[in-house]
Amino acid sequence: MNDYRSTEIARFILFMLASVILGIVSDQLAVAIIIGLSFYLAGHIYWLLRMVEWLTHDRRAIPPEATGIWGEAFYQLYRHYQKNRRRRQRIARLLRAFRDSTSAMTEGVVVMNRDWQILWFNNAAAELLGLSAPRDIGQRVANLIRNPAFISYLGKVKGDETLEMPSPKNAALQISLHLTSYGDGEHLLLIRNITRMHRLEKMRREFIANASHELRSPLTVVSGYLEILEDDTERNPAWREQVVEMRRQSNRMLGIINDLMELSRLETAPEHANGNLVDVPAMLARLREDALALRVGPRDVSLQVDMSLQLRGEEKEIYAAFSNLVFNAMRYTQDDGHVAIRWFANAKGEPSLEVEDNGVGIAPEHIPRLTERFYRVDPGRDRARGGTGLGLAIVKHALQRHNARLEIQSALGEGSVFRCVFPAYRLVSLQSAGSPA
Ligand code: ADP
Repeated sequence: MNDYRSTEIARFILFMLASVILGIVSDQLAVAIIIGLSFYLAGHIYWLLRMVEWLTHDRRAIPPEATGIWGEAFYQLYRHYQKNRRRRQRIARLLRAFRDSTSAMTEGVVVMNRDWQILWFNNAAAELLGLSAPRDIGQRVANLIRNPAFISYLGKVKGDETLEMPSPKNAALQISLHLTSYGDGEHLLLIRNITRMHRLEKMRREFIANASHELRSPLTVVSGYLEILEDDTERNPAWREQVVEMRRQSNRMLGIINDLMELSRLETAPEHANGNLVDVPAMLARLREDALALRVGPRDVSLQVDMSLQLRGEEKEIYAAFSNLVFNAMRYTQDDGHVAIRWFANAKGEPSLEVEDNGVGIAPEHIPRLTERFYRVDPGRDRARGGTGLGLAIVKHALQRHNARLEIQSALGEGSVFRCVFPAYRLVSLQSAGSPA
């Protein structure tokens, strides 16, 4: 039996024994027992009051010295309290270390609950987003950062998407935001200062645009003279071969420069072109003629077009995207092959262009990289076929500006299908009296 139990039982027996003896001596047994029990109870009430006092006033102090059951109760409570205190201290230390380390981070961190109310943020987030504690704690993030792009990012973010925008505090700073959800629907927003990268990227784009522009004029002159010289070699055939090659190479350079200029224009133009009504069926008929005029690839180019479907967009950009796909199909398909161009609305009502060929095809490992600038599956072969290496990069950017996507299916030696899928809201169906579908 535990010590405190035996002490308490011994004390109770002692009280009873003393009362009984006193009762027998005084011949008042019942009264003596009542008095004895009252004393015993008063003792307990006394310790109960001491305990309440200790608990309410100073739990941290050493508890009062008590014996028996009260001693044990004080001891257990004190031990429990000490244990809790140590645990609390450990958690506080951890929390402090976490806050100190996140404060030292150059990336901003904002923690939000499931209702998008801010629970905590570090110094970098305060600096980059213009937040201030405790003023903004508990506020909904959308009430503090009112940039429309940010609000729509909160609404539809999924996976690995990031958003780039100017800092709400200082428009000269460019920030990138990455939102993730964790736990029970809570949100974590990471903010990075990408001003330097953004500036470098802008410089790169401007450099390419300026350099291409500056190179184009002299090259056009050289190309023009080479054309005259080429005609002139009738009289001086010894130079013919060299002049033809020079003209071919200068044309190739002009092609690269034109593509670079087109690419930087697409990169710098504001996003999501709304555009005008584009008569895609007429454009594709023209494109088929242009493709056949290339005099490379198959003669068999079929056109399956839904004549009622038109598109809302930028005609020049759409032509650039479609022509690159069709010309590629011609260049990467043998003369006795076949190219099919299709224009239709898919099952989801999304206007789609499909260019299918049964040419050389592409091995699966190359497909994810095809839209990178100057990426070529087989550099020697592809250059010889007259490409600039920029065609699919132009396609990607032109489609991005229309919120459209490029799908590529291909099998080596069997052929390829390149598909541009536009969002349904860009479709204009002439069958429904010219109103948007
Ligand atoms: P290029 O000017 O070299 O054709 P692109 O950006 O248009 O550059 O295409 C990138 C690469 O993708 C090409 O070099 C070629 O290897 C491959 N490619 C593009 N279209 C096709 C196709 N229809 N069939 C086979 N390979 C293709």
